Amino acid sequence: MGTNLDIAPVLGLTHDQWIERAKPLGVRPGYASEIYSRFYRTGSVGPDFATPVPRPSRILTTPSPEGDVHKFLLPVSGMVRASDGSAAEWLTSESVVIPMMGRARKRHTLCVSSQIGCAMGCGFCETAQMGLVRSLTPDEIVGQWFAARHHLGHEISNIVFMGMGEPLDNIEAVLQAIRVLTDHRGPALAMSGVSISTVGRLDGLARLREQVCSTGWRKLNLAVSINAPNDEIRSRIMPINRAMPLAELVRMLEGWPLRSSAAICAEYVLIPTVNDAPEHADELAALLAGVRCCINVIPYNPRRNSPWPAPEETAVAAFIDRLREHGAYVKRRRTKGRDTMAACGQLGAAEIRRRRLVELGVEGGVKAS
Ligand code: SF4
Repeated sequence: MGTNLDIAPVLGLTHDQWIERAKPLGVRPGYASEIYSRFYRTGSVGPDFATPVPRPSRILTTPSPEGDVHKFLLPVSGMVRASDGSAAEWLTSESVVIPMMGRARKRHTLCVSSQIGCAMGCGFCETAQMGLVRSLTPDEIVGQWFAARHHLGHEISNIVFMGMGEPLDNIEAVLQAIRVLTDHRGPALAMSGVSISTVGRLDGLARLREQVCSTGWRKLNLAVSINAPNDEIRSRIMPINRAMPLAELVRMLEGWPLRSSAAICAEYVLIPTVNDAPEHADELAALLAGVRCCINVIPYNPRRNSPWPAPEETAVAAFIDRLREHGAYVKRRRTKGRDTMAACGQLGAAEIRRRRLVELGVEGGVKAS
């Protein structure tokens, strides 16, 4: 039996893909199957793998009424140097484990990153300050689940692609990671426990729609950041809107292949003086009237050097009431993890935040900025 198998393929491949990959390495299918399941179930690599498993380099903990919120950094391959010339450092992905009180027991949602940094440039977002460094590979995405499950020791019932990055900018890697995460011989998450949260790239949504229509994918959840009631405001805070305006996005969502009991999550970050007026609620309700959705109102979490404060409780409640008067289905997201900058739109390691980064290629040459 081989004793120096590389761990990365196991994290990036489904059970069947791993069996095929292992054959030319001289690993019998039965044994390959056994070590695959054991690896995911116990987190133990046994004597078969030479490379180390993903292990957080830093964990930040914030108490919340439902339990501790853990944000963790996971080193991935590659190094970066800030454009101010400071010392090179390892790239890290960022993830957050959020406890939720279920009916019978505590559950955990894992918020994963699909990229390091992000190219979308949303004005309210901490991650946008970094720019895009690079996209993550499927094994680096699944590695975040592995670290949460086997190093932090949490049972993960839900995964949301809501950390750093725009998942539809890295869609094939995200889809492959979901195949692995939902493989019943691997992490075995339910497809209904997986959500993709996007700014609404139309090309990416068209690809995702094709996938959702295939067997086993129908229960994948979709969340779309709407964040504005009209193009004028949305283009100001979300540059993507200048190329892909709201009318086209809403048309795409109206035709989304939903199961009968499901709804799209329309995310709305409520930002004082930007999108929180009563008439904005009226306009938003009319805009989404034809989309089967739940409007998720998220009180803005001020990023560093933010031009806007967090909204007052009364303003959040008034906005929600106004939407409900129009018959909209609305929820309010409770913010957890604000203290460790682990709340929505706030990922991005403190040391590298607000700095333009240059990725160092294998030979040390500049690869991206
Ligand atoms: S909100 Fe999401 S898509 Fe927009 S910049 Fe931040 S990480 Fe990127």
